[in-house]
Amino acid sequence: MRCDLCAKKPCREGNACSSCDAAALYADAEDRRMMRAASEVEAEYYGEVNRIEEIILFSQKMGYKKLGLSFCSGLAEEASKIAHILENYFEIESVNCKVCGVPKSEMGAMESDKVGKISCNPIEQAEMLNKAGTELNLLLGLCVGHDAIFIKHSQAPVVPLAAKDRVLAHNPLGAVYCSAIYKRMLKEAEEARAEKEGAQEK
Ligand code: SF4
Ligand code: SF4
Repeated sequence: MRCDLCAKKPCREGNACSSCDAAALYADAEDRRMMRAASEVEAEYYGEVNRIEEIILFSQKMGYKKLGLSFCSGLAEEASKIAHILENYFEIESVNCKVCGVPKSEMGAMESDKVGKISCNPIEQAEMLNKAGTELNLLLGLCVGHDAIFIKHSQAPVVPLAAKDRVLAHNPLGAVYCSAIYKRMLKEAEEARAEKEGAQEK
């Protein structure tokens, strides 16, 4: 499937190129409730509220009482400010990525002068929120890969609140919207592909 290459995307008008059993896919009552709540936030507040406000509205519609915040130590100040808002609506459990202070040497993680010696600990972040019984976990800026591990181990559903991008002010799509960055990356990608194909031909 390469929907990105489909120019007209007729499924948007209901003219689908493939079919599925939607009733079976969404048979789970909790999935249906989440779909309903997400659609209500979109329909009622489209373009009027920011992402944090959408998270509050979605969580209220779901009846969540306890939210988890899994945050990067580098975004501790942002986590504190966001929790300061959220705690007025929900019980909050927050876990810093450096929880337990495990040295990178014990994790088999790569060490470098550019970064600290204590490892990110996404499995323990998830475990602590699992034990706390959070009903929705928010991801705030975990590194690429650490976020994947956290999601893998989180029992509660996960909403990315912000994706880390150290170069683009935590706005990964800046690479797409800024033509100079996009052109450079595309050139590098095409060169890498040509090099790989050249090596395979030898
Ligand atoms: S019609 Fe929709 S689902 Fe099918 S290829 Fe195009 S974008 Fe994808
Ligand atoms: S290891 Fe990753 S998530 Fe943890 S502080 Fe460093 S950058 Fe942030």
